[in-house]
Amino acid sequence: MKIICIGRNYRDHAKELNNPLPEKPVFFMKPDSSIIKNGKPFFYPDFSNEIHHEIELVLKISRLGKAIEEKFAYRYYNEIGLGIDFTARDLQAECKKKGLPWEVAKAFEGSAPIGNFLSIEQFEDMRSIDFHLDINNKTIQEGSSAELIFSFDHLISYLSQFVPLKEGDLIFTGTPAGVGPVKRNDHLQGYIGQKKLLDFYVK
Ligand code: ZN
Repeated sequence: MKIICIGRNYRDHAKELNNPLPEKPVFFMKPDSSIIKNGKPFFYPDFSNEIHHEIELVLKISRLGKAIEEKFAYRYYNEIGLGIDFTARDLQAECKKKGLPWEVAKAFEGSAPIGNFLSIEQFEDMRSIDFHLDINNKTIQEGSSAELIFSFDHLISYLSQFVPLKEGDLIFTGTPAGVGPVKRNDHLQGYIGQKKLLDFYVK
């Protein structure tokens, strides 16, 4: 399986990092070794002094698809959950300055903790899914799928022109404003609505 992540999909987050709003989705990938599941801890890596949290809604792909039309995109994912797109912001800043790819800052081991998933039948409206991240019991990031620049269906259609999507692939759909550093012993808890789906520590 693979993980495809979308950058700059919320206006307020693009603004906070002084990035222009994208005209089409920006994407990058993480390998399966990025995944952390079942509440296992994230180990702070030695190569960075500035690991940032990015809470994101995550789509789980349910069937093989290429060049999917936007109007059929809803047939290709059946679960939604939460993940953290951990980012070595110091390394990413160097990459951006030099125009280099971001993988060194995004694709490292453990950089994609994911929580439990909910079946899409549990949601009335894909365009009003509220979620938030608490760190040490304080809400640090909040967002809603209503604020997405590119909708889930648009993302699936766009990505599948370039990369065939397969059952079990994950799409991280971008982070709202409020990104910032984590430190050892931080307790991260992610919620969709009032449902806690993600719960782990930084070690
Ligand atoms: Zn992200």
